[in-house]
Amino acid sequence: MHICCAPDETVGYERLAQYGKVLGLFYNPNIEPLVEYEKREAEAQRLAELMGVDYLEAEPDRYAWRASIAGFEDEPERGERCKRCIEHNLAYTAQKAVELGIPAFATTLTISPHKDVDYIHKTGKELAERFKVEYLVETLRKKDGFKRSLELSQKYNLYRQNYCGCRWSKIK
Ligand code: SF4
Repeated sequence: MHICCAPDETVGYERLAQYGKVLGLFYNPNIEPLVEYEKREAEAQRLAELMGVDYLEAEPDRYAWRASIAGFEDEPERGERCKRCIEHNLAYTAQKAVELGIPAFATTLTISPHKDVDYIHKTGKELAERFKVEYLVETLRKKDGFKRSLELSQKYNLYRQNYCGCRWSKIK
């Protein structure tokens, strides 16, 4: 399961447990600056330990990510920059699942009310075809998922960021 941040990870672990053992993968070369990246990663890892779930931080390939979004930096949120960012992170996740012999992948990105869930699922399915691995179509924000993430964030005293991740989402 691709993890974007600890608050979203909470519901991801709860919902994906129905499929069996879950490995949380923190791969987010989009998160800037480095101090913010380290803060979110530390929280994601702390939560995995608290919830007793396997966790892996993958080295963020910032050069590859920048290449993925090149030419679209100034697009508004949910535009082409975000599509490419999501595709980059999910492609890495699909590839990692294959490498580790894990039969399926999913993402916590579907919990956010700000994200285009149809695009996420469409991309997940295309990547599943490309990498020959299953994509789990889980829309975490359904069934009050976002509300549940707020409750669990409070329970575990999690850090909750106020911007998506890249420098362009930070400039308001
Ligand atoms: S706003 Fe979020 S999804 Fe969009 S490019 Fe930036 S980090 Fe990626």
